[in-house]
Amino acid sequence: MAANPKVIYMDNNATTRVAPEVVEAMMPYLTEAYGNPSSMHTFGGVVGQAIKEARGKVAALLGADPGEIVFTSCGTESDSTAILSAIRTYPEKRHIITTRVEHPAVKNLCETLETATGHKYRVTKLKVDAEGMLDMQEYEAALTEDTAIVSVMWANNETGVIFPVEEMARMARQRGILFHTDAVQAVGKIPIDLKNLDIDFLSCSGHKLHAPKGVGILYVKRGTLFVPFMVGGHQEHGRRGGTENVASIVALGRACELAMEKMDEENSRVKKLRDRLEEALLTSIPKSMLNGHKTLRLPNTANISFEYVEGEAILLHMNQHGICASSGSACTSGSLEPSHVLRAMGVPFTAAHGSIRFSLSIYNTEEEVDLVIAKMPTIIANLRKLSPFWKG
Ligand code: PLP
Repeated sequence: MAANPKVIYMDNNATTRVAPEVVEAMMPYLTEAYGNPSSMHTFGGVVGQAIKEARGKVAALLGADPGEIVFTSCGTESDSTAILSAIRTYPEKRHIITTRVEHPAVKNLCETLETATGHKYRVTKLKVDAEGMLDMQEYEAALTEDTAIVSVMWANNETGVIFPVEEMARMARQRGILFHTDAVQAVGKIPIDLKNLDIDFLSCSGHKLHAPKGVGILYVKRGTLFVPFMVGGHQEHGRRGGTENVASIVALGRACELAMEKMDEENSRVKKLRDRLEEALLTSIPKSMLNGHKTLRLPNTANISFEYVEGEAILLHMNQHGICASSGSACTSGSLEPSHVLRAMGVPFTAAHGSIRFSLSIYNTEEEVDLVIAKMPTIIANLRKLSPFWKG
């Protein structure tokens, strides 16, 4: 099915368009170059070489050594691998530190480790303030001799808020505690240079940076003890069994190369578009507010609450104009639950229910932003007319 050419796609934190250059790079590995990278023959060797080159490109984007990159199937697998590796490395340690605003990939794993083991593990979930920022004193006090790992996201998928992971990793290392960061939303959007950082594990996912779905990486710092999650063949130097998803790995390598080239554009042109959209909506629509820190934020993300309207209803109306975004509430078993991230920030219910996340990419244009700016005030005003609580 062809994509609708009229779609205005502002849901890039959910997933991104696969870049045409990326499709071109991966195609040969879906067609003629189908060898197994582990084979002894040259036909397979060519494919093995392509994986090696992709590993180098991923490492370059992250300021890592190619030997520190493990290819996985997605960000979720990378998160699970890092956290489970730490608790298997230190079976005597029973404490995990994370935050209240993690993606379910980390949040649900930590909760499962707590509940499914009869509370063998204790999980500290650090609080955030109204702007979505952490309290570093609370963090410092939470670090104990019993802590096996700290897992804190680099940038939040809903608000784009950036956490001080460099400093947090340094504090963990000083106490001999492993540090993992879920950098799924950060990689490709902001510069990352792992060389001189105390981060032991970092997760990244291909489909958030213009590579296909179903491929990710886990960075494992040289010297960090590691226990594999997927046990099988000798692939990835025994760190992740299973025949490699070659085409997607090649694609991720190319996407990382492009991300390096486009990083400045992401932080200048895309940021300007995002800022213009955000300012225009906050000015033209009464009772609207920004969720998340004004500046310590990804350049592409704006999470805005429109009070007294339901996010899902807004999305449906936006959809009629071909505008794609996300809402901060999810329809669970018939009731609309505001997101755990906005609740942790203390966003009032009337605002949390009406939150919309706009997440842009290098493919967005001025014209698209103009159209969204033009349509949104009417959409919100029409929905508010139906609200019994709106006294505008
Ligand atoms: N972590 C964060 C912060 C995310 O935004 C996502 C996806 O939305 C994930 C993890 C999961 O990544 P994947 O979809 O590759 O499993």
